Amino acid sequence: MGAPQPGTALGGALGPARTSRSLRRLRDDPQRLRFEVTARDGAARTGRVHLGGGSVATPAFVPLASHGSVRSLAAAEVAELGFELVLGNTYHLAIRPGAEAIGALGGLGPFMGWRGATITDSGGFQVFSLAHGGVADEVKGRGSAREGRGAVLDIGEEGVRFRSYLDGSERFLGPEESMRIQARLGSDIALAFDECTPFHADRDYTARSTERTHRWLARCLAWHAERGPRSQAVFGIVQGGIYDDLREASAAAVSAPGVDGLAIGGALGRDKEQMRQVVARTASLLPDSAPRHLLGIGEPDDLVAAIASGIDLFDCAVPTRLARHGTALSPTPEQRFRFDLGSSSYALDAAPLVAGCPCAACRDHTRAYIHHLARARELTAVRLLCLHNLVYLERLAAGAREAIAGGAFGRYHDAIRAGEPPWDAVATACGR
Ligand SMILES: [Zn+2]
Repeated sequence: MGAPQPGTALGGALGPARTSRSLRRLRDDPQRLRFEVTARDGAARTGRVHLGGGSVATPAFVPLASHGSVRSLAAAEVAELGFELVLGNTYHLAIRPGAEAIGALGGLGPFMGWRGATITDSGGFQVFSLAHGGVADEVKGRGSAREGRGAVLDIGEEGVRFRSYLDGSERFLGPEESMRIQARLGSDIALAFDECTPFHADRDYTARSTERTHRWLARCLAWHAERGPRSQAVFGIVQGGIYDDLREASAAAVSAPGVDGLAIGGALGRDKEQMRQVVARTASLLPDSAPRHLLGIGEPDDLVAAIASGIDLFDCAVPTRLARHGTALSPTPEQRFRFDLGSSSYALDAAPLVAGCPCAACRDHTRAYIHHLARARELTAVRLLCLHNLVYLERLAAGAREAIAGGAFGRYHDAIRAGEPPWDAVATACGR
């Protein structure tokens, strides 16, 4: 990333797109993206998103490949688990190894040996996490403030100036720069540059920030129309925090010509109940014809709630971050759907992590063994827990697809929330 170039269209003469819901026309370009809904059940839908790099069955959980790797797994293993789309991180990849290096090696997918589709975030979440502190890091778990020396120097209309956490050098990230980097990374879906407004921001700040995000979207689209890869889709990001009128205005502004899909970002609420209300309301404001991606949400109960609201794609650090901390996802709503293998209560536990789970960790190993590996800080503990946690969420999404197709999503949703594992919940819901 370099400094902004004088003479580029930083003035953003386009302004936010304003279209009424009835007149909304997203871009309809099958060369970039084609979204096919095959079944609906209430607001929930299942189908496929067809992208240049492959097609993705939805609803889908999207693993993070922040630095070009899904933690502890080879790319081929990620595909074998059933995933069709992974998310690379513009901020991290631009700092190391650099967009030019990845571009010269064929783009993110070829660089990491991944044969499926790719999405890249804009980098906005990370640079604003540097400015806003660790709150968003805690919510979304993929900030980098804890990595030390990175610091924001200035946030302005042009973008954000900050120091690299690697070497302290001054960097810049703004709408055009983010799109240029994502073009070099060659992802199938690029996310527009936005400010992820933190929960502690007040209404006035959230309103001004959301309007700037809309101006930045117009600049992203202008850059991409002129210089972006022909086959790369662009998703706009709906902001507006917890404020209904701001979410409504943002949904209208972001559902703009030139946008191929929508993402929902920003602060979603102080608790799960408020988050579900904000997600449901925001999803209801978005055009039906485009895929909807919910950023940074990945706990089992939140996933089924969001799917019920019509969300198609999710990414989240939860499965891999929990694994790093010795924690397994489980059908235990009373324990936030997880348990900590470090506890001595598992020292002699000969059961698998979760009975019936089809993952390799549960097939071959006991809780006692993984407890031991976690205590001994063996890398294999992280790897086995990554495998389990990712399979758990992949099975959860696959179960949702089957339940929606069978008109049984309400029962599936209730069974997951009540503590059935995905493979049992789908059998219960679909009566097989
Ligand atoms: Zn398992």
